[in-house]
Amino acid sequence: MNPEWRFPSPIQQLTIPVFEKQGIELWIKREDQIHPFISGNKWRKLKYNLSRAKQLGKTTLLTFGGAYSNHLYATAAAAEEFGFSSIGLVRGEPTEILNPTLRFVREKGMQLYYLTRADYRQKETVIAKMGLDRKEIFILPEGGSNEWAIPGCAEIGKEISTQFPALPDYICICCGTGGTAAGLICGMKGAAEVLAFSVLKGDFHQPIIEEFIKAYQIKTQESSLAKLQNWKVNTDYHFGGYARFDSELIDFINRYKDTYDLPLDPIYTGKMFFALEDLAHKQYFKKGTKILAIHTGGLQGIAGFNQRFDNLIKVT
Ligand SMILES: *Cc1c(COP(=O)(O)O)cnc(C)c1O
Repeated sequence: MNPEWRFPSPIQQLTIPVFEKQGIELWIKREDQIHPFISGNKWRKLKYNLSRAKQLGKTTLLTFGGAYSNHLYATAAAAEEFGFSSIGLVRGEPTEILNPTLRFVREKGMQLYYLTRADYRQKETVIAKMGLDRKEIFILPEGGSNEWAIPGCAEIGKEISTQFPALPDYICICCGTGGTAAGLICGMKGAAEVLAFSVLKGDFHQPIIEEFIKAYQIKTQESSLAKLQNWKVNTDYHFGGYARFDSELIDFINRYKDTYDLPLDPIYTGKMFFALEDLAHKQYFKKGTKILAIHTGGLQGIAGFNQRFDNLIKVT
């Protein structure tokens, strides 16, 4: 692997007054620094999918996403790095000028097709209609979460165990499809409580994560099911739903950048860190608690967000 990769992803301790006051230690695992373009949990999810695709003799990766998708971005970069062609099916209308995310994926050679929202909802059947169900094509689901994604995300947990001889009490992660949280839970094997913060409105993650865990256990023949109860999904910090935000969230993100030099994205990590600070403030965590928050990445999305929303997020 070339020197751009960083494994294990680095950890750092942050000194933040709200946490200090409660006697809480806050650590961050910088998955955003794994690779400049294939960052965070999207690499973890791609890793074993790419080996699977190679093993099956596939030469092209095909996947789906919104016009600002972290997953499309990481897939395009990984495809180029590992010698695959790539195809992206984008939700929505093409625009005259490509946004920064789509410009990047095009530069990485990803071929783009735009699907109407109706077609996007039935994207799996649309693939056949478009003649994209060819045998050289390996299909990754939207967001990259499938059975091959979980073992890669479990490696986050394994790294944590080597980086922290005395494990943290809580390991915190953001939750979209739930694949990353499921993998992390599998990797931790119940040794620390995993708190997953949903960035979507609604309370539906529990059974999805359980399914992913079960599939992993069957695949790896690990049978410590009983021990995998040590996790929770918090649904209180979605800010109105996926990609919704308010000025309080934006101010929070800008304060973390200014004060702690910690860049956060408005879709995922900003919401999780906001939740952690709020929970600390509300004395959810006992004195002496050690928290490890996983920075899952997603920083590529800030450029497109700033273009749409008048540079709300400070980048320097
Ligand atoms: C995709 C993504 C997530 C969500 O991961 P899931 O496995 O879909 O739950 C979290 N954080 C960032 C930065 C992401 O890009």
